[in-house]
Amino acid sequence: RAESAMYSAKDNGRDQYRFYSPELGGAVAQRVELERDLRAAMGSSEFALHYQPKMRRDGSVAGFEALIRWNRPGVGLILPDHFIPLAEQLGLLLQLGRWVIEQVCRQIADWRSAGLGTIPVSVNLSTSQLTSAALPDYVFELMRAYGIRHGCLEMELTESMMMSDPDLAIAILHRLRGGGVVLSIDDFGTGFSSMAYLRQLPVNYLKLDRSFVKNIADDPKDADLCAGIMALAHKLDMHVIAEGVETSAQHQALADCDCDLFQGFLFSRPMSASTATEFLRQPH
Ligand code: C2E
Ligand code: MG
Ligand code: MG
Ligand code: MG
Repeated sequence: RAESAMYSAKDNGRDQYRFYSPELGGAVAQRVELERDLRAAMGSSEFALHYQPKMRRDGSVAGFEALIRWNRPGVGLILPDHFIPLAEQLGLLLQLGRWVIEQVCRQIADWRSAGLGTIPVSVNLSTSQLTSAALPDYVFELMRAYGIRHGCLEMELTESMMMSDPDLAIAILHRLRGGGVVLSIDDFGTGFSSMAYLRQLPVNYLKLDRSFVKNIADDPKDADLCAGIMALAHKLDMHVIAEGVETSAQHQALADCDCDLFQGFLFSRPMSASTATEFLRQPH
């Protein structure tokens, strides 16, 4: 019984033997159900975008980041870390990513026609989008269809997304930038070889990873590091957004480092579209 309960999985070219356990069985069953539900959710109305504001130094709203959620039947609202990696593995992210971009274009158009002005919104890209030469054309097509002005649609990518085919990714980024899409490096400082690429990238913003922000108010070394990153970015004509700002001490320390924009729970959690609309209507 012990043998039959054992299975092997080839991982990284090596045989790895793992013992079957009820917990593992549960995990496998859960993953099968997740996969089934995720496939079924494609093209449904189970996905929604939440919006988290990016704040200027003067406290006004510079724009929003769109963050996907999945309202999984019988389970509730699922955060992206729990389904985006699987969606990518299953090859569903090109389709889902296109839905996200269209949804954001529609939201920008809605806010404009509601008299709230031209509000820039960023979407998070995935590896499959950054290795798809068709991305810029359909982005431009959507921008035209929804009347999105240059500088209003933004895209966030991580350094690791560029690793599989850097030349193609850089070419895609140049085309997007040329068509008026604003680009940000997300989770900046956590990837590899960023300095080598940074000069070649047509990027407007660095999003300083939350891990740098965490101790900035207590650790002078972290504050020095952040000040250095801000100076470097500004020298390269880029702006810096701090992610994960949770306390006013962090906010102050970042402002002292010359940070341009701030995003985090201190200002607001990600909100539904209707709550974000209310947020825009409030004076800031
Ligand atoms: P990200 O792009 O780095 O987004 C920032 C994450 O930090 C969000 O988590 C946000 O809710 C969270 N956050 C914001 N402020 C704070 C704060 O003050 N403290 C803390 N502890 N967390 C904060 P979320 O929404 O769970 O998204 C996780 C990741 O999922 C995102 O990281 C992004 O990489 C990915 N993601 C989200 N939406 C999409 C999407 O539409 N497409 C793709 N491909 N990926 C997405
Ligand atoms: Mg992001
Ligand atoms: Mg981030
Ligand atoms: Mg992240």
